Amino acid sequence: MNKEENRKENRWFAIRVILLLIFGLLANLIIEAQNEDWIQPPFEGYYKLYKTRLNKAGIELPVDYVAIRYNTNLKYTPYLGVARGMWMPTVVNVIISERWNTYPMAARMWVIFHELTHDIFNIEHGEIDLMQAGLPEWLESWDVDEAMDQLVRFLKKDYDWDRVKEDRSALGQMTK
Ligand SMILES: [Zn+2]
Repeated sequence: MNKEENRKENRWFAIRVILLLIFGLLANLIIEAQNEDWIQPPFEGYYKLYKTRLNKAGIELPVDYVAIRYNTNLKYTPYLGVARGMWMPTVVNVIISERWNTYPMAARMWVIFHELTHDIFNIEHGEIDLMQAGLPEWLESWDVDEAMDQLVRFLKKDYDWDRVKEDRSALGQMTK
């Protein structure tokens, strides 16, 4: 290959890399626009458990888009999870600290269910057991079961379903 050919080859390679990047970006935008869920594999089972538990009680989750992802920046905070989509109707955007992975199963369930309950139903701290601020020190799987039963009872009896439609996302941004 002579120099000229070499340069052409390099230029073509660069163009292909750029095209690939653009396609990747576009694909990402299209996926977001289609409202496809973006749940990372470690959280899929937990989301299914939560959803199934409520579905069995006749409660459909009022959501269009669900994202549950690790966020590395949370390791600099005391938070195991944050419900970023709270007060944003139909959008669920939960981020989870990598430290979550070091906790026992019951605690991992508790964290995911707690954040989903914030995000999906706009339920705040203290309203039910599951929504106490901070992770309880002792947790067994039946504690999680009981807390979920209580959530179901709350949603069926005392909950004001207009709350899922409330949009305070602008306020959420101001107070960040
Ligand atoms: Zn919370």
